[in-house]
Amino acid sequence: MAKTDIGPPYYGDMLPPIIKENYGKWKYHEILKPGVLVHVSESGAELYTVRVGSPRLISIYFIRDICEIADKYCDGYLRFTSRNNIEFLLSNKDNIEPLIAEVKAKGLPVGGTGNSITNMVHTQGWVHCHTPATDASGIVKAVMDELFEYFETMKLPAKMRISLACCLNMCGAVHCSDIAILGIHRKAPVINHENLKNFCEIPTVIASCPTAAIRPNPKLKSVEIKEERCMYCGNCYTMCPSIQIIDPENDAISIWVGGKVSNARSTPMFSRLAIPYLPNNPPRWPEVVDAVKKLVELWAANAKQGERMGEWIERIGWEKFFQLAELPFTDKHIDDFTYAVTTFRSTTQFKW
Ligand code: SF4
Ligand code: SF4
Repeated sequence: MAKTDIGPPYYGDMLPPIIKENYGKWKYHEILKPGVLVHVSESGAELYTVRVGSPRLISIYFIRDICEIADKYCDGYLRFTSRNNIEFLLSNKDNIEPLIAEVKAKGLPVGGTGNSITNMVHTQGWVHCHTPATDASGIVKAVMDELFEYFETMKLPAKMRISLACCLNMCGAVHCSDIAILGIHRKAPVINHENLKNFCEIPTVIASCPTAAIRPNPKLKSVEIKEERCMYCGNCYTMCPSIQIIDPENDAISIWVGGKVSNARSTPMFSRLAIPYLPNNPPRWPEVVDAVKKLVELWAANAKQGERMGEWIERIGWEKFFQLAELPFTDKHIDDFTYAVTTFRSTTQFKW
């Protein structure tokens, strides 16, 4: 019979036995200390997790190292979280401390649980995407270096999720994170008409624009862009390399705040623009690091216990937030999308 299961390998084949035996029967979980969790099943079985920070791009040597550790202490089981942490899964409590000692000896931090800043979800950046307005891994490293004490401790009022996307296609969860770093292009793309007519399919290019800013230019056998309709997203460049969006002089970074996914007690929140422009300043992006740190510490100093960034801002009001953060409110903060008000929850609008 022809093989029909052509997707990724079946997840059930690689579950640790303790998870297989207690699948769907977990009663509760607790954080024993920063970076260490226990999940307790109805059967009384206990599964321990040690969470370890990792970069997103790793080598086979690094993978071999962590596999050896998992072999030694976890019967060969580990997993990666969606924020690129490594989680070592242990069924023997006595192995927790030796495992922690070994990962720390390799320079890997343990933490990222509970009221902490866990690893940042981020995109490709200059590593290999073709449309970024800024880098991803480089900024994440610079920001996390500065906020590192909050990864290893749980002293914040609530959890803090930071994300980065290097263009506004946002493949990096920035719409639903407490603080989001977003790379922005700030000028309409430039068309190379000579190349376009040879390289690109005009109907596809026109269809790629979400704001209908592109129309045909039959005279040049090319297209033209109505600049006032362009939102600098770069979708057209994805379709056609002859429409160049990357512009090192003008590309920049914006900061968004207050997003989160839903939980048992509150609905999801969409992040809103706080800082429309910061310079793209590699290799350590000091302006971005400074802005993110200030926002984290302002929230930490003022929020109630358990209050996420967006919940705190909604309680005090956006005017007060801009005042406390010493951020100017500008025309860039006004969402002029036609349906912005009627679709309030899914836009960047906030009540002023
Ligand atoms: S956010 Fe944009 S530039 Fe960054 S990886 Fe995704 S599509 Fe590429
Ligand atoms: S950058 Fe985006 S909005 Fe502007 S023309 Fe290209 S696809 Fe349209």
